[in-house]
Amino acid sequence: MSDNLSNALNQNWEDKQILVVEDVDTNKIFFDAALRRTNAKILWAKDGQEAIDMFKENRVDLVLMDLQLPVMDGYTATKEIKKIDPKIPVIAQTAHVMSGEREKCIEAGCDDYLAKPIRLQVLIDTLSKYLS
Ligand SMILES: [Mg+2]
Repeated sequence: MSDNLSNALNQNWEDKQILVVEDVDTNKIFFDAALRRTNAKILWAKDGQEAIDMFKENRVDLVLMDLQLPVMDGYTATKEIKKIDPKIPVIAQTAHVMSGEREKCIEAGCDDYLAKPIRLQVLIDTLSKYLS
């Protein structure tokens, strides 16, 4: 294991709650496994509407937002969440690497953007910018 990776995995986020918005079970399992060693508490919403509801009902430190979601897409959910709390970090994650998508993300209020498949180190490094 590289020094960078072991440093990344030494994050202790036991006082942090991350809202993972993801409709695909296997992707959720990846986030659980990737974040387990950080001790962050993970909340899980399966669509955009559920994300907004859970955001209202829980103290959330960061949102990991899939953009392709049933019921309500991640762009719309991000806009609604940012209306509630403009300072909450929202990190978009998407499988679509189309031109203009990053711009659409930023316009919706996302703070950062991860392209799937997401590498563990990139995930931890990106979250560190907003949680540490
Ligand atoms: Mg999806």
